[in-house]
Amino acid sequence: MAKKKVVVLPGDDEAPQTVYAALEVIRALGAEIEWVEFPTGEHWVRGETDKAARAAIDASDSTLFGSTSGKTTAINYLRWGKQTFANVRPCRYMPGFKSPLAKPAGIDYVIVRENLEDLYLGLEGPLAALAPLHLHSRILRADLDTTDRGKYAVKVITEKKTRQVARFACELARKRKAAGHPGKLTCTSKYNMLRESDGFFRQIVEETAAGYPDIKYEQFIVDDFARRIVQSSHGLDVVVMPNLYGDILSDAAAGTIGGLGLAPSGCYGAGYAYFESVHGTAPDILGMGIINPTATMLSAAMMLEYLGFDEQSHRFENAIRKVYGEGKVLTVDQGGTAKTKEFTAAVIANL
Ligand code: ATP
Repeated sequence: MAKKKVVVLPGDDEAPQTVYAALEVIRALGAEIEWVEFPTGEHWVRGETDKAARAAIDASDSTLFGSTSGKTTAINYLRWGKQTFANVRPCRYMPGFKSPLAKPAGIDYVIVRENLEDLYLGLEGPLAALAPLHLHSRILRADLDTTDRGKYAVKVITEKKTRQVARFACELARKRKAAGHPGKLTCTSKYNMLRESDGFFRQIVEETAAGYPDIKYEQFIVDDFARRIVQSSHGLDVVVMPNLYGDILSDAAAGTIGGLGLAPSGCYGAGYAYFESVHGTAPDILGMGIINPTATMLSAAMMLEYLGFDEQSHRFENAIRKVYGEGKVLTVDQGGTAKTKEFTAAVIANL
């Protein structure tokens, strides 16, 4: 296999510590990867570093990313520049995770969040700017009053972007079915209230799923779905949803298995993918050496699989599983006393 090239953007605040931990494990695994590393966000100035990072991303097979508080500007390029339309966020319990649920064993599903549109286009502004549109509210049964001091935000759902993420989710459900999972797609949005936008999302997903007769299909209104991920998530397999709900609910999903320190994520486009944890930069524990690198490590394992290093990916995941199974070297968020470095050493010892 040709040597793969991976860009490393460590991110801001405490996030880099999780990236460096994941890199240590990958180096111990001996995967043939050429790394192109950039400094943490503190050193970024919009301009030179960003330009260099974009060029490096274009010349690479993938990017491993720590989280950003906004300083590491290349994130927007990874997402919109590379059109990474499907944000895949597995929610999988491993024995030893400190879940608040009574029976977390067996939770294993994947949230596929549409990654490019919905309310994330940055289209906001003063309410008065909408006056020329003479918008009529179906709910108020009146024209929108744009004379109050206020702001608007635009939510966009397109057929193209919805269909591509729905197809991706169906293909993932098919792949998981082949590996012994139920082979089911769940769609969720607020389609009863936002009939035009979220209703359209639901309609396109349902149509797309009809082209996959081997995959079961179900749909829930997003508030009902929020309850389900807390009360009865064992039956879930692959769940597809618009951007904002995916952002919020994947944090909630992470909470059900034991917290943000455990939830990985990968953003896939047609010809590129990058990987980062679900969590943010954890500024409140900056410099304490206690951040849990599991989420970034599991993201890195997803990246190894994406790059074709299947065997190394499995060894990485199994080593993490063993460390939690033994329960001796756990970070503070998981009820242990281990520092990030000690946890990392334990994973390497179990490869
Ligand atoms: P963002 O808006 O980017 O999601 P945030 O500050 O809202 O960032 P996080 O950075 O994810 O959210 O942090 C939320 C809480 O979870 C903080 O108390 C943080 O310390 C904790 N946390 C997040 N990730 C980890 C981790 N990997 N290990 C331990 N604690 C974590």
